[in-house]
Parts: sequence; C-alpha cells; structure tokens
Amino acid sequence: MASSGANAYIQGVQAATGVAVGTVTLIDPLANLESVPDRQADDIDAQEGAFRAAVVAVQAELGASSERLTGALPNDVRELFDVYIMLLGSDVLVADTLERIRAGNWAPGAWRKTVARHARDFDRMEDPYLRARGEDIRELGTRVLMQLQPGPEDPRSYPERCVLVGDAVSIQDIASVPAGRLVGVVSHQGSAFSHTAVLANALGIPAVASLSSLPLDLVDGATMVVDGDAARIYPNPSQPLLDALEVRRSQQETLRAQFVAQRELPAQTVDGVRLPLHANIGLDADIGLARDSGAEGVGLFRTEYQFLLRDDFPVEDEQHQSYRRLLNVFTPLPVTIRTLDVGGDKILPYCPQKEDNPFLGMRGIRFSLARPELFVIQLRALLRANAGLGNLQVLFPMVARVSELDEALELLARAHRELTEEGQATATPKTGLMIEVPSAVFLTGVLAARVDFLSIGTNDLAQYMLAADRTNARVTTPNDTLHPAVLNAIAMTIRDAHAQSTPVSVCGEMAGDPAGALVLLGMGIDALSMNPASFGRVKRVIRAFTSEQARALADEALAQEDERQVRRLLDDALEGAGLREPWSPGH
Ligand code: PEP
Ligand code: MG
Repeated sequence: MASSGANAYIQGVQAATGVAVGTVTLIDPLANLESVPDRQADDIDAQEGAFRAAVVAVQAELGASSERLTGALPNDVRELFDVYIMLLGSDVLVADTLERIRAGNWAPGAWRKTVARHARDFDRMEDPYLRARGEDIRELGTRVLMQLQPGPEDPRSYPERCVLVGDAVSIQDIASVPAGRLVGVVSHQGSAFSHTAVLANALGIPAVASLSSLPLDLVDGATMVVDGDAARIYPNPSQPLLDALEVRRSQQETLRAQFVAQRELPAQTVDGVRLPLHANIGLDADIGLARDSGAEGVGLFRTEYQFLLRDDFPVEDEQHQSYRRLLNVFTPLPVTIRTLDVGGDKILPYCPQKEDNPFLGMRGIRFSLARPELFVIQLRALLRANAGLGNLQVLFPMVARVSELDEALELLARAHRELTEEGQATATPKTGLMIEVPSAVFLTGVLAARVDFLSIGTNDLAQYMLAADRTNARVTTPNDTLHPAVLNAIAMTIRDAHAQSTPVSVCGEMAGDPAGALVLLGMGIDALSMNPASFGRVKRVIRAFTSEQARALADEALAQEDERQVRRLLDDALEGAGLREPWSPGH
C-alpha cells in the first residue's frame, strides 16, 4: 500500500473516471469453477439436460438484470447483457460442452474444461481489449456453475452508498444493487476493457480494477474512497482527504454539466472551423452508446472482434448482419468499417501463426491478401450491407506498399463483380486506408490519389516510428504520440493528402486526448475519431481556441525536441484557457 499525506491508498488501473465515497460491500466468491473435478457421468442425458437448463436459467437471469437496469442506464448499454446472452448461447461454449458431456464427463466438469480452454485463448492475447473477453467467459462460467450446483440463497442487503468490492465484480453484481445505491466499483482483478468497466462508465460510477492488492482486514461496512481519476482506492480515508475530494467532485460535476450542455453544439473553433467527431467502436455494446453521445459518424469499427470471439471464420451472412446493423443505426452518417486487422497481438484462435516478430509479420492487410478467398467474403458482406444505405466507408489497415492497396482495391472490385453477376443488391462504398506504417507516410501522395479518404492510426504509427512495442510499458509512455517525429509524420501526411484533395482523419488514441486533439486541429486534420467517452472534453477544447491559435501551437510543437516538451507546451495552452484537467492520467 502506498500513501499520499496521511492517507494510505492502493493503486490499480482506471476502469471508469470520477470520485466517490461509500460503504464497502464485499462480494463473496460465488463458486469456484476451477476446483470442480472431472467425474464419470452416470446418466449422460440427465447431465446434458441439466447443463441446457442451467444455460437457459443464466440467460433468463441476465435478461432480467437488463430489464431491471433499463431506467438507470443512459441508453442502449443494456445490450451488454445481450452480448453475454449471445455468447452463452453460442456454439463456442455450448456445443463444446455438450461434446464433452457426451464423451462421458459430468456437466460441471465438462463446463470447467470448456470455459478454461476458451478463457485461456484470450488470456494469451496481448491486446488488453481481447484479454478482457477472457473475463467475460469466466464470469459466465461461474454463473452457470451456480445453476448446476446451487448453494444457499444469499439475502444480501445493500447500504445507501454502496461500493462493491470483490476479487471480480461482474455486470450481474452491479445489476443486483438497487437503483441509485451504487457509487463505486472496485475489483482486485478485472481490467479497463471489461464489460464491467463499460457498464460503470455508462452509469457514471467510478471504478478501479486490477489492484496491486486488497487489504486483508477489509470488512463490510468500512468507508472507502474510490478515485477513478487516479485509479486508486483509499480504505479508511481521513477527513482532509474527504474534503479535498469533495472539491474535486463538485468541479467535475460542473464540467459534466458543461459537457451535457454542449452535447448538441458542434465541435467548432471560435472562428467557425468545424471538426467532426466520430466514434471508435469495437464491441456491439458500444454502438448505442456511440450513437447517443452525438457521434457524427463512425470513424473506426474494428471488425476483428467479431472474428476473435468465436472458433471459426464467421460466414458471409453473419458478417453482413453485423455490418448492416451498424450502418442502419447510423444512416445517413458515414460509417468507416475496417477490414480484418489481425496478426501482431491479435491472433485468431482457429488460425494460429507462429512468427518471431509478429508485429512485423502477417498483420492487417497482409493477412487478408494472403487469404483472398476469405477476404472476398468480408468484402462481399460489406458491399451487400451498404445496399440501399450508401453510408459505408471501407478502410484497409496496415498498408505499407502501394501494391497492397492496389490488390485490396482489385479484390473489392472482384467482390462487386461477383455480386452483380449473382443479381445481388450492392452500393459502391468510399474507400480509404490507414496510415500507420512509416513507409505509408512517405507514399501519402500516391496512396491518397487512389482512395477517398485516409485515417491515421497513431497507436501503430508511434510504435513503428519509435521502434517501441505498444504493448510493452517499459518502452512506451502515454506521450509517445506527441513525439515531434510522430507529429512531423502526421503533418506531412496531412499536407500530401490535401495536395490530392483527400481528407485525413485520426483514429488512434491521440484523437481523444485533449492535448492531442488540439495539436491535430492546428495541423489541419479533417476529423477525429475516438472513444465517445472523450467527446465532451475534446469538444470543449476545440470550442475554446481559434484555428489560428491552434496552428501557431502546432507549429511550435513540431519544432520541439521531445515529447515531454510538447506535452508541457500543450498543457500550458490548455491551462491558459482554463481547460486543464489536473486529475487526468498521463499528466
Ligand atoms: C492505430 O493503430 O492507431 C489504430 C487505430 O488501430 P489499432 O489500435 O486497432 O491497431
Ligand atoms: Mg493499428
């Protein structure tokens, strides 16, 4: 445990921002799936029936929780529960378990093996977003086991200001707290990318995950501060700390009210330059949130998550349905759907690749071009989804050579020809590519001439420019995208694309960082795409500067020697405009 003044705290990772004081409510470990033994089934049919009934019961439980939260949630976050219901009903988990039962294992043992196998596949992934899907599967594992081996009922009572604390806190645990009583969520494990984090964000409740430890003497009823901004918890806080946090809480209230008041206003500079804010989307559950946060379109839909959450390539119709739904929700606003971007740290469990340097290997477009038959299926699904809507923009990831773009465009044309010959309805989409490899920066002019738009992936661009693995915290910092070399590469891309009249957006994390957004504005970016949670703070910054002020700042930033100087320069500008958020991480 570390300490700040008289107060001891425990550090974790941020799952949802904000600060709250409340009463600890410990979540008991419900059932331990890992300790379930294998056992020969006496009656295979009975075991199969029990397993099917348990799955149905958990699905019903999830459905009921989703209903219960209807009024409390801003909007469609209830879909989170649908994701669980679907995952639980999927072949991945059910068929696998039934096969094990038919091979002779009893239901709990068969279920343990299925959950362990699929959760392990995700645990091995470096991408934190995907690792968090392992948590989902374990959570479902526990729920189904409780149905298979019911224990005594737990008539839990919840205090007025409840802070849920547990080894893991599930969306079901959150849904069990009576409306209006939950003020904070603390989980020893868990991550910033879990559904629990998504739900806490939607409810506006601070959450801290992945704590370095939990105090052994922590008891139900103790007071605790959950500081989601600094990703810390303070068990037994002192009065001065409570007072200081109260000040911050009220500042944040004011800020939130400002964000809400600005929700309908455009992201526009003082002198009238508009900068559309688009949403980055991964999980289906993000879709409703993005739409309701005022996104002016989708700047990045990462299709790989649909491919990674299963045990075989999704068929064309399945892909088509997913894309169609997204295009429908946002029509007539533009929706940028990125073709499969796997490889690197995102490995398809059913298509393993062994490479010494996976980030420099069969990633992104290279993976797809090496499997044209599979790639064409995705392109057909996209073209069909666009029929009658016309708001699709297809984005190709990791392009490093002009020939790669040409091949991808040729396959898109082939998919179009096939569909036309079959008499299927399509609509020609806009096309674009990601600039995220240094070679593409230098080829911007020729690349931009072939497409309708460019999108800069600053996460990978910084990784490849600085030779710093983005998943290795020892060699990266949150300021890497502000490195002057990266900024100059972005400036060059914008200049060369504009010379071809091709618009450029940024869809890496940099777009959602107020300092990053400010410097991009100054460099003449045409749109920003980010997690919708960042819209409020970014819009506030854009509305506070003139385009000329932003340009002068960008010029100065481009001339700095390192990323810390750039961060200081931009932070000072934000401070001067009264826009600095001192509690934000990375400062
Ligand atoms: C990027 O690299 O900046 C990007 C947006 O793509 P991803 O994070 O999915 O690699
Ligand atoms: Mg990328």
